[in-house]
Amino acid sequence: MSEAVKKVVEITPEEEARVLEWTKSKEYLEKNLAREATVINPAHGCQPVGAQLAAHGFEGSLPFVHGSQGCASYYRSTLNRHFREPAPAVSDAMTEDGAVFGGQNNLFEGLENAYKLYSPKIMPIFTSCMPEIIGDDLTAFIKNARLKGHIPEDFPLPYANTPSFNGTHIHGYDAMLKAILEDLTAGKRVEGACTGKLNLIAGFDACTGNYREYKRLLDAMEVPHTLLADISETFDSPLDGEYQYYPGGTPLAEAAESINGKATISVQKYATASTMKFINQEYGGKHEVLPMPIGVQATDAFLLKVSQLFGKPVPESIKAERGRVVDAMTDAHQYLHNKKFAIFGDPDQLLALAGFLLEMGAKPYHVLCSRASKKFDKEMKALLESSPYGKGCHVWTNKDLWHLRSILLDDPVDMMLGDTHGKFAARETGTPLIRIGFPIIDRVNVHRYPIIGYQGALNLLTWTANKFLDIKDDTCEDQWFEMMR
Ligand code: SF4
Repeated sequence: MSEAVKKVVEITPEEEARVLEWTKSKEYLEKNLAREATVINPAHGCQPVGAQLAAHGFEGSLPFVHGSQGCASYYRSTLNRHFREPAPAVSDAMTEDGAVFGGQNNLFEGLENAYKLYSPKIMPIFTSCMPEIIGDDLTAFIKNARLKGHIPEDFPLPYANTPSFNGTHIHGYDAMLKAILEDLTAGKRVEGACTGKLNLIAGFDACTGNYREYKRLLDAMEVPHTLLADISETFDSPLDGEYQYYPGGTPLAEAAESINGKATISVQKYATASTMKFINQEYGGKHEVLPMPIGVQATDAFLLKVSQLFGKPVPESIKAERGRVVDAMTDAHQYLHNKKFAIFGDPDQLLALAGFLLEMGAKPYHVLCSRASKKFDKEMKALLESSPYGKGCHVWTNKDLWHLRSILLDDPVDMMLGDTHGKFAARETGTPLIRIGFPIIDRVNVHRYPIIGYQGALNLLTWTANKFLDIKDDTCEDQWFEMMR
């Protein structure tokens, strides 16, 4: 077959094979780990993806991107591919003239059209990199849009600056959620008033099953609650033949009165830092930040804290669930004991997953976070040191999945836990990958299965232990191919 395109540099197959082998060497590992200027396949998305996820979690909400159309397509398609549900959002489609003269006119036109065409109840606005680089002043633009009549005076337009060159999807989530709560609760605080409810913030969590599980546990405990930024219906609504623009989401009136809640709990410290700072300053009631309840110990801590805050005992049905999971852990521990895992993703989820592995007697051997603070590094190391199974494990902060490939080739593990982006390293290193986190775009329905609570621990346990058994069946010699494992 003749080549239509002349290659710029001719590389022989032999040379290609030699370089590939070299990238698996110790020498390359050292060069790779010394790399600073380039990021290859990071284990995170950009800020606006998180902002859009938070925006989708409210009733009648139409996320509005101030910036480039192409960027907006990336956020929408990533959410859409992960959930296999529509992720409707609009963009004011800034192009070259917007980049030179600023995007105010784009915003005016976009707001007017979106409001008239799609009848939303709220339009949370967030930015792509381009308006951030040129320094668009959203505060002034939105004020002008109202003054000039492009949007009604009282229509809620919370907005967040989400520059992707400074942060990841968890920071965008945080900034957007804070802006929405600030907007909706403004002037709603009443001294002495209390809704008697728990406000729960799941953090950047793209697992719809987790949201349903939080609600099920709180219902079982008879604790009245408002799940803030609730995407469980938005991204997992029934297919009944009728398309809805805005299924589910936290009702706006409930979100507004959350400021007078009895207590507010966030289960993701790193993904809600500025939101919780705002809540600590402005919200009534008690405020708590807990670890994500993955595994038995963290779920116990979550339920006990809720029980203590609301004076409600943990019901027998939930205690029985706990007992069943402990039984399931006992049944499965022989397949996980001392196994080495590489885990990668967001800080809060990594801490929670490491905790789960340690309580199973498994090793979170390589923990990789592509964007993490020194605080996270310290916290993770302290967690690993607290268990005999954490000894000798490694924490890799601000490293990407191309680093992880080199690391695994040099010091392999038995299994990887993380999102779809890890599949390249998994394939090249021959490591099984259990998909957890965001985005999962090469498997179906995973987001519908909780990983939090006792039910979530059971799922994690089942997926990991059975994967090891599948591998054994697929690879063992005939004399070890047993009916029973
Ligand atoms: S990183 Fe910036 S330019 Fe790239 S998709 Fe995100 S917002 Fe757009």
